[in-house]
Amino acid sequence: MTKILKATYMENCIGCELCVLETQRQLKKVGLEGAPIRIFRKRKEKSEYLEFGIEIDPRISSLDIEKVKNICPRAVFELVEDNGETSGFNS
Ligand code: SF4
Repeated sequence: MTKILKATYMENCIGCELCVLETQRQLKKVGLEGAPIRIFRKRKEKSEYLEFGIEIDPRISSLDIEKVKNICPRAVFELVEDNGETSGFNS
């Protein structure tokens, strides 16, 4: 069965964008434009601290997602079995 990349532990994300840069490296693209992973910053409710959201385009499956998973310093990602529920962006 196919494995997909899932941001299971999104609350651990520090917004470093290393995962985004890894996808762009694999796609041989410069900059963050059009990357299959997008990181969103938002202010935590009733707090001065930021938290991060992650959107993953399913087309990322054409890349080496093991490398994308492993580059994250906060172990945010997991490789999980694709159960066919993935459509559009997941977060
Ligand atoms: S590499 Fe990990 S910590 Fe850094 S932005 Fe991506 S998910 Fe967040």
